[in-house]
Amino acid sequence: MQRARQILESTFGYDDFRHHQADIIEALVNGQDVLTLMPTGGGKSICFQIPALIRSGTAIVISPLIALMQDQVDALKQLGIRAAFLNSTLHPGEQRLIEEDLLAGAFDLLYMAPERLLAEQTLNLIEQCDIALFAIDEAHCVSQWGHDFRKEYQQLSMLHTHFPSVPRIALTATADARTRDEIIEQLSLQQARVFINSFDRPNIHYAIAESGNSREALWQFLQQNHAGDAGIVYCLSRKNVEAVAEWLNKKGRVALPYHAGLGQDVRARNQQRFLREDGLIIVATIAFGMGIDKPDVRFVAHMNLPKNIESYYQETGRAGRDGLASNVWMSYGLKDVINLRLFTENSDAEEQFKRVMFQKTDAMLGLCELTSCRRQALLAYFGETMDQPCGNCDNCLNPPETWDATIAAQKALSCIYRTRERFGTQYIIDILTGKDDERIRRNGHDKLTTFNIGGEHSGVEWRGIFRQLIAHGYLATDTEGYGVLKLTQKAWPLLKRSETPQTVMLRKLRKPSKAKKKKSSAASRLALESLSASDQEFFEILRGLRSKLAKEQNVPPYVIFPDKTLTEMAIVKPASKSQMLDISGVGETKLLRYGDAFLEEINRAVN
Ligand code: ADP
Ligand code: ZN
Repeated sequence: MQRARQILESTFGYDDFRHHQADIIEALVNGQDVLTLMPTGGGKSICFQIPALIRSGTAIVISPLIALMQDQVDALKQLGIRAAFLNSTLHPGEQRLIEEDLLAGAFDLLYMAPERLLAEQTLNLIEQCDIALFAIDEAHCVSQWGHDFRKEYQQLSMLHTHFPSVPRIALTATADARTRDEIIEQLSLQQARVFINSFDRPNIHYAIAESGNSREALWQFLQQNHAGDAGIVYCLSRKNVEAVAEWLNKKGRVALPYHAGLGQDVRARNQQRFLREDGLIIVATIAFGMGIDKPDVRFVAHMNLPKNIESYYQETGRAGRDGLASNVWMSYGLKDVINLRLFTENSDAEEQFKRVMFQKTDAMLGLCELTSCRRQALLAYFGETMDQPCGNCDNCLNPPETWDATIAAQKALSCIYRTRERFGTQYIIDILTGKDDERIRRNGHDKLTTFNIGGEHSGVEWRGIFRQLIAHGYLATDTEGYGVLKLTQKAWPLLKRSETPQTVMLRKLRKPSKAKKKKSSAASRLALESLSASDQEFFEILRGLRSKLAKEQNVPPYVIFPDKTLTEMAIVKPASKSQMLDISGVGETKLLRYGDAFLEEINRAVN
């Protein structure tokens, strides 16, 4: 472990291991198999990279994400580590060279996709080499239940039989127990040491907003918190992706669309620009993002409800991998709630699968309408208990008020009952608020006892009430998608004022919060460090230099130094090489490459 520590310091420039890194490294170095579940940004890579350097031979890293291998290998090369990848983006000539180098033992790490590894030719090649370990990244891809399922992953159990003496490590950021059991089963990891980390992401601030106009709300959110930051905006449909991207561009932000309907080249280019340039927004369907390695994604915004909490957590998890303060934000409304319920209802899945889907939908809606700490609820969903509210979510910082909505709910349900469950929300609201309307008169609904009994709430308030009644399962909509409201089993006791009195507590509509003090983009980016104004200026100067160096080498800026390292430099302002080495993230190779350039820039700026 002495050696591991030394590599951590001299190569990576870090002082201490995080979480279970030290134990994992020790196990692997000793030849044991490992399964590790660690949240995004937890520091999974070091767990196999350091053993790869300590054990003799080459570590084979299996990842489904071919598009990211170049950047991953570039990042390692920046650290002075001998790494390469083998995939279809290389010319046959380049591939042959890499194969020869591999045989000659020229690599510490070699990245490839599972289908490449499983090809007979590759297996033959590997059998002739000294292999340090196999790292199976994104190991949840073995799970048939997950949305990242890859069937080749299931064949990876052959590594165990083919190379019994080579230790394997499976890594994932997916938290649930079922996936974990599947990984163990499918990859024959019964003997593996298992390390599970807390899935909390303390640097992420969670907010979920009910909103009538989600675009305006998004704009507010961006202006107040992320005027110049990089981030992801998720939309449900391709059409919406295009529209929102265009709208943001009109507003003066650089926003690029990403969805499966775009050509492969357009997608690759937009993703590349997002990784290479500062401050870009990607507007995307969920087709975007698996394994996105960009550490300085400062926000993730959802314009619609994700299908379930797993997806929500995975998508929001792409924010703040570098550990600096980040925001995730979601806007949803009545329509989203109806659509999500419908989606589940109409899926042609088998009964058992559908039941699971219903539970997941309920949990997702429950999270939205929650009035207590979001983080506690999220972690609880993944089986983790957190004793105290987090203090870093919207409900903690600005507790929602609740009110006894029993009477309002009874009025609403009764109005639906009296109109024979044949109408949608707006019509029912019009009756409740006594609207002078031709259709209502024609139907004779102005004579109902429920006509004009709800004037104490505005139309907007009623929509909020209906949304919550649907979310809480008192109401359902028809399965044909017309939005016709139906009473559920749960509604009857309330409607009949049964012997056991029922109360319905709902969230009050949040008053549009007064504009928060507007932070500059740099300030929000570095909120954890809370830089002074002059240090911020310093940071921007260093960022400029980093940008220039990155462009010269055609690598993403964070590969040169992450924001965290630049932040520390901006505060400490090292004046010598040895002071520079003390900065977290500056190892020996990077000092050699960039030390002088940054020292000069700092020196110039100080004087
Ligand atoms: P993951 O793959 O788990 O999402 P990474 O391996 O990319 O996370 O690590 C996230 C960031 O944390 C990287 O910038 C990495 O260099 C950094 N990091 C990892 N381990 C440490 C450590 N022990 N000390 C400081 N920074 C670390
Ligand atoms: Zn909280």
